[in-house]
Amino acid sequence: MMALVNRALVWFIPYLPKAFAARFAGRYVAGESVQEVLSVARDLNDRGFEVTLDILGEHVATSQEARDVTQAYVHLYGELAAGGIKGNISVKPTHLGLDLSAELCRDNFGQLLDAAQQHDNFLRIDMESSRQTDETLQLYRDLAARYRHVGPVLQAYLRRSSGDLAQLTGEPLNFRLCKGIYLEPADIAFNDPGEINRNFIALLRQGLEGGAYVAIATHDQRLISAALDLIKELEADQARLEFQVLYGVPMQGRLEQLLKAGHKVRVYVPFGEKWYDYGLRRLKENPAIAGYILKNIFHRAS
Ligand SMILES: Cc1cc2nc3c(=O)[nH]c(=O)nc-3n(C[C@H](O)[C@H](O)[C@H](O)COP(=O)(O)OP(=O)(O)OC[C@H]3O[C@@H](n4cnc5c(N)ncnc54)[C@H](O)[C@@H]3O)c2cc1C
Repeated sequence: MMALVNRALVWFIPYLPKAFAARFAGRYVAGESVQEVLSVARDLNDRGFEVTLDILGEHVATSQEARDVTQAYVHLYGELAAGGIKGNISVKPTHLGLDLSAELCRDNFGQLLDAAQQHDNFLRIDMESSRQTDETLQLYRDLAARYRHVGPVLQAYLRRSSGDLAQLTGEPLNFRLCKGIYLEPADIAFNDPGEINRNFIALLRQGLEGGAYVAIATHDQRLISAALDLIKELEADQARLEFQVLYGVPMQGRLEQLLKAGHKVRVYVPFGEKWYDYGLRRLKENPAIAGYILKNIFHRAS
């Protein structure tokens, strides 16, 4: 029933005035300009959170577009440093041209990593759908051979992730662990929420025991509790991990508790002109997200 409601909502949204969509998208997106995102980042820093900034967009159509996005990110590293913001950057490979050419994409990431190095910063390579997994991990390996301040993402819903992690550990590895947001077929991905959560914790154990730095990215309160139990069991060093959430997702005071317990918490803050197209594409790919939006609209109204 809920799935039907979600699909109906996704169908309906393009017919709503853009200003209305902006009212609820605004909760999840930190504006369109660099100034706006830096102001949000500064507020989050003041409240004890670090940030990772993402310029909205993906699947660019031309090499020039990919180069322009690269320059925008290079500029953003400079702005973070100039503003004294505690934060790094997350980038989707198809936003830097992965669909067009692996070589172009690698060159663009190389420029970003030069900028990150210059400012003693870090670059996270977001993970997109399973169509990009192999190429994205190869991109990471190529870059990690030349730079230290770069890290990939592993998705707990993918059956392959444990094998991928086994191949990556041994190097100084810093990875983000998330459930995964794209709709994937059952032969390559777990669909059952319980199975995804069990794999998430198994991957967290594998990562921590393997000596990796792990960024634990979830809003799932029970999963956060299970992660904390594991951290305690393994006596994992707090300096080897952090928690991550998306900007705007209600967390009922949990983030402040994590900060109080001495954990680093980083907020993923997307911004940019492409917020509308990006939001709609996400919703069409995975209508279940519409349920969250619907819930948030009613939550805010009540
Ligand atoms: C920092 C960060 C980076 C990420 N990077 C990637 C990536 O590179 N690749 C990728 O595939 N996926 C990425 N994701 C998305 C992730 O894979 C999940 O799809 C998403 O976080 C929802 O899963 P969950 O772990 O929060 O658990 P869920 O079980 O989906 O959600 C738990 C609860 O959190 C709340 N919630 C979750 N999401 C939202 C939302 N958008 N709005 C409102 N409430 C919400 C709901 O109350 C829900 O009941 C990232 C997530 C985070 C937090």
